[in-house]
Amino acid sequence: MNPELPPLRDVIARHGLSASKALGQNFLFDEQLLDRIAAVPGSLDGHQVLEVGPGPGGLTRALLRAGAQVTAIEMDRRCLPALAEVEAAFPGKLTVIQGDALKIDPASLFDGPYAIVANLPYNVGTALFTGWLTGESWPPQWSSLTLMFQEEVARRIVAEPDTGAYGRLAVLAQWRSRARLAMKVHRSAFTPPPKVMSAIVHVEPAEAPDGVSMRVLERVTEAAFGQRRKMLRQSLKGVSGAIAALETLGIDPQRRAETLSVAEFVAVARLLS
Ligand code: SAM
Repeated sequence: MNPELPPLRDVIARHGLSASKALGQNFLFDEQLLDRIAAVPGSLDGHQVLEVGPGPGGLTRALLRAGAQVTAIEMDRRCLPALAEVEAAFPGKLTVIQGDALKIDPASLFDGPYAIVANLPYNVGTALFTGWLTGESWPPQWSSLTLMFQEEVARRIVAEPDTGAYGRLAVLAQWRSRARLAMKVHRSAFTPPPKVMSAIVHVEPAEAPDGVSMRVLERVTEAAFGQRRKMLRQSLKGVSGAIAALETLGIDPQRRAETLSVAEFVAVARLLS
C-alpha cells in the first residue's frame, strides 16, 4: 500500500529537487525495484531500520510499505519537505534527521537491533561500511547491512581468493560476517544514470573468531595487499613476527596475498594478536 503519496517524479518536480552532483544524488523511482531492494534484508515488518541518504524518499516508502519503523539521516535540507510528506502518510513510522551520517553515531538513535539500508554516494558508502565493520564490540547492534555500491566495489566486498577483486575489503567484510551480492542494479534505473553499474550487497554478522584483534588483522592485510604482487616474505617483512607466523602455520612465504583465504589471514592475525 502507498497511502496518499504522489509519484516520485512529481515530488521531485514540485520540490525542485534537481539532483546534486556534489551530494552524489542518483535517485531511484521504480517502485517495484524499490520494493525488491527493501525485501533483500528479509521481512522488515515491525523491525527498526536506519536508512542513510533517503533523498526524496523512494526507498523510504518501500521500507515503510514493508512494515519497518524507519529512522532516516539525510544531509540535503531540500529533501526535508518531501520526506515530511512521507512521514505524514505513515504516521509515527518515520523519523527524519537532517545531518551528515558520517558524524552521527547510530547507536545513539536505537535501543534494540536495527537493520541498515542505504543507497549512498560511493565515497560516503564505503567510509560508513568500513566503520560499521570495524566496530570494537561484536556482534554489532545492527542486524544487517543492505547497501548499494558501484558493482566493482560490490564485487570486491564478496570476492574470493585467487581473484583480482580479492583484497582488504573482502577480508574485512568476510572475517566475522557473511557478505553476498544480493542484486545488480542497471545504471538506467537511476535518475540521472551514473557512469557505471551498481549492485546491492547484503551483510550479516557471524561469530567472530576467538583471539583475533581487528587492528592486527588490518595491519596484516594492509601490508600484504599493499604489495599484492610481491611474495608474502617480502610484503610482510615490516610486520613483526609475521614471517615466523607463516612458518608456524605451514603457509609458504613465497605465496602472494591474494592466494590466502580469509581463514588463513585470521590464523596469522591470531598468532600476532
Ligand atoms: N535513497 C534515495 C534513492 O534511492 O533514490 C537517494 C539516493 S542518492 C544516491 C544518495 C542520497 O544520500 C542523497 O539524497 C544525498 O543527499 C544523501 N547523502 C549524501 N551524503 C550524505 C551524508 N554524508 N549523510 C547523509 N546523507 C547523505
